[in-house]
Amino acid sequence: MMTAMTTKTRKDIAPHRVPHRASLCASHRALLCAPTATAGARRHVWRKPRAGALPLLAICALACCAFPETQTAARAQQPTGPLSAPTRPGGDASAPAGTLSAPTRPAPPAATSAGKHRVNPGNDGNQGAPARILARARPAPTGRPITLDGLAYINLVHFAKELGCTAAWKKTGDKKNPEILVLSKGSRRYEFTVGSREFTADGVRVFAGSAIRATRGTLWMSRIDATNLFEPIVAPANGRRSATPLKIIAIDAGHGGIDKGKINERLKIFEKDMALDTARRLKPLLEKQGFKVVMTRATDKKIELADRPEFAAKAGAGLFVSIHYNSVESNLQNVSGIEVYRFTPRYQAPVSRTDVRIEDKIGNPGDAHGFWSSVAAYDIHRALLAGLKAPDRAFKHHKFAVLRLAKCPAVLVEAGFLSNDAEARKINTPAYRQKIAEAIAAGIKAYADAAAGST
Ligand SMILES: [Zn+2]
Repeated sequence: MMTAMTTKTRKDIAPHRVPHRASLCASHRALLCAPTATAGARRHVWRKPRAGALPLLAICALACCAFPETQTAARAQQPTGPLSAPTRPGGDASAPAGTLSAPTRPAPPAATSAGKHRVNPGNDGNQGAPARILARARPAPTGRPITLDGLAYINLVHFAKELGCTAAWKKTGDKKNPEILVLSKGSRRYEFTVGSREFTADGVRVFAGSAIRATRGTLWMSRIDATNLFEPIVAPANGRRSATPLKIIAIDAGHGGIDKGKINERLKIFEKDMALDTARRLKPLLEKQGFKVVMTRATDKKIELADRPEFAAKAGAGLFVSIHYNSVESNLQNVSGIEVYRFTPRYQAPVSRTDVRIEDKIGNPGDAHGFWSSVAAYDIHRALLAGLKAPDRAFKHHKFAVLRLAKCPAVLVEAGFLSNDAEARKINTPAYRQKIAEAIAAGIKAYADAAAGST
């Protein structure tokens, strides 16, 4: 970008033989040249220097030669001026303007105004900032949180560096989001788009509670997401002080009795039956790993939602896993795949909407286990995707009652769509449900290892 601008400037000035053209900064050049618009093209034409300008020009030219960095500073202060080239991945976000490293040069946002743009589900269209604002702004001091719309945000690049990540920008070829921020730790990649709640963690789709914001020359993640979601995914060991070794697991087969859950009428498949069978298959797999397992229901009976986490708490469970199957009202045969949920943290809106309401500000028991619920949900989601090769419908968050009332880390699994006939037929086979149970067991093992400190 900067190379292209330099070439244009030289071409514009050269015909007029401006003395020592490369040394003159933009403001000094203005004494000699005036830009004009001719047939849509921007050209520079010679103009006679004002009386007394020539001595001033001579001083300017000498000054520009002697202190070329003043030209860089002048460009950096221009509203649309380019930032300097990336210095190194993972550069310090607190570096002064004009020496910004790659991660502090955010891409233009997906949208700049909710009123002008359609807001995608899970994508806060008004959360970004125009690129010119980013270019003009100076980065905030490293690590110091800022407040946006009443929520604390922290410098994402700085935070990621503290977690051992490096950072760089990647071109996407997409006009709406030409660049994404890529954070790397070992072989794992975490990719962020300005203005979106969705990011990818090692190829897995994840929905944060608040969109990534771009301001003050860098990217910002809500502190709740940083400490309750991103950190648990990137560095679960950081939460070990709050971890208790996993010994007892509560499996919650969704629905039951007169509550049939989701139904595929065409194939006569009920969610309550699929969930119970999957839970029954999961229990011995976990017992084989050495865990004690309790089930909120082992038969076809209705259990109130509030009673399920209560039962788990009384049994002393260290993890609550609720098993469900999914459904959509329209586009039935095109929607399939895996979703795994944690409880939406306080002060954030569930993934189904973007506006934070009064009820979102109320505290719940589920708030106390955000870190380890995220570790568990991420591990189980990854294991399901790896085991089933099903579409990734993302690791999400919602205010489901069983998660809201859980008194231990809690996860809700939606292991496939009964509304999709092809997926429902697979779910209706014992072999596929066994694969689902094995994948959940593998995810729980990964979670237990993290909680025990062996990973
Ligand atoms: Zn359900």
